[in-house]
Amino acid sequence: IHGYNHPVLNAAIETQLQDMAHVMFGGLTHVPAVTLARKLVELTPDGLEKVLFADSGSVAVEVALKMAIQYWHARGESRQRFLSLRSGYHGDTFGAMSVCDPVTGMHGLFSSALASQLFAPAPEPAFGQPGTEEHLKPVQQLLEEQGREIAAVILEPIVQGAGGMRFYSADYLRRMRQLCDEHGVLLIADEIATGFGRTGKLFACEWAGISPDILCLGKSLTGGYLSLAATLTTEHIAGTISSNPPGVFMHGPTFMANPLACSVANASIDLLLKSPWQARIETIQDGLETGLAPCRELPGVSEVRVLGAIGVVELRQAVDMRAIQPAFVEAGMWVRPFGKLVYLMPAYVMETQDLRELCAATVDVVSRYS
Ligand SMILES: *Cc1c(COP(=O)(O)O)cnc(C)c1O
Repeated sequence: IHGYNHPVLNAAIETQLQDMAHVMFGGLTHVPAVTLARKLVELTPDGLEKVLFADSGSVAVEVALKMAIQYWHARGESRQRFLSLRSGYHGDTFGAMSVCDPVTGMHGLFSSALASQLFAPAPEPAFGQPGTEEHLKPVQQLLEEQGREIAAVILEPIVQGAGGMRFYSADYLRRMRQLCDEHGVLLIADEIATGFGRTGKLFACEWAGISPDILCLGKSLTGGYLSLAATLTTEHIAGTISSNPPGVFMHGPTFMANPLACSVANASIDLLLKSPWQARIETIQDGLETGLAPCRELPGVSEVRVLGAIGVVELRQAVDMRAIQPAFVEAGMWVRPFGKLVYLMPAYVMETQDLRELCAATVDVVSRYS
């Protein structure tokens, strides 16, 4: 989000390195982790008061699923299933794979080794459209019929990332929160891709004014420098887990809260909050809208959509990666299309002229290769 080789981020890691690269977080703590946990509690939606640091986004999702299961266990209930959404993507480890879209989630090959979860249709309507009850009918039905088995609903708020790059209505998210409350099911928000401003709000949940019970963060947490993720939850869930046998949350990775990663995360968040990030993202949104608009006229393109600093060109057919990726590199751009999607998620510091060139190259390459 801050671009490459940022002097402030580089310095944060170098300074921490002179002090201590790592210590196992079992029974010990350190300043970079405490500082970061405080920041996250303050910045994220209300009610999220407890933080568990994990090594990667996928692990943060595993932790979220385990927290939900252990919460119900602590309450004397065995709830081990999850309700997820079509077109969702939550990572590449086993628990995370089980809640990815079974088709677009890229894990079909492992399907018989995965826990069987419940899936509702991909969320609709599109972002900016008013929601209707009817889109949540399938969710409501699953909650009514199987709510007592379901530990949590897991979703990516507002923007579904690698499972389809779809933007959906804030009304859907708001109504989902209500349904979870009505049926006593936890809500896990995976903001690994959307967190830290990407959609134009600091967290995508803010579009709907909701707080999840469990929140996953990753990717931009460290400005993309080092692998670090976090799973946040409420005082109630953490307290319920900790005050019932076995008395602690059963997850403790060796590299939990790595100090180098926590230090660069602290520096990245400070840098973001000191910057005019909202104005920058609005400028990028306008630049993507204008710059990608010519793609709408191309016969191979089915839709162009933009939200915040995310631009998506959806094609009618899957791109030929072996042809299209070198074409981008030749144009001086690092773009990684997948499936039918050519998408741009520029650094927030990208200058208008650079963005213009990036969009022009995208229009050119898509027109030649779609
Ligand atoms: C990238 C991503 C993950 C997985 O994170 P990794 O760090 O790649 O393990 C999970 N959920 C979402 C929404 C993501 O975008």
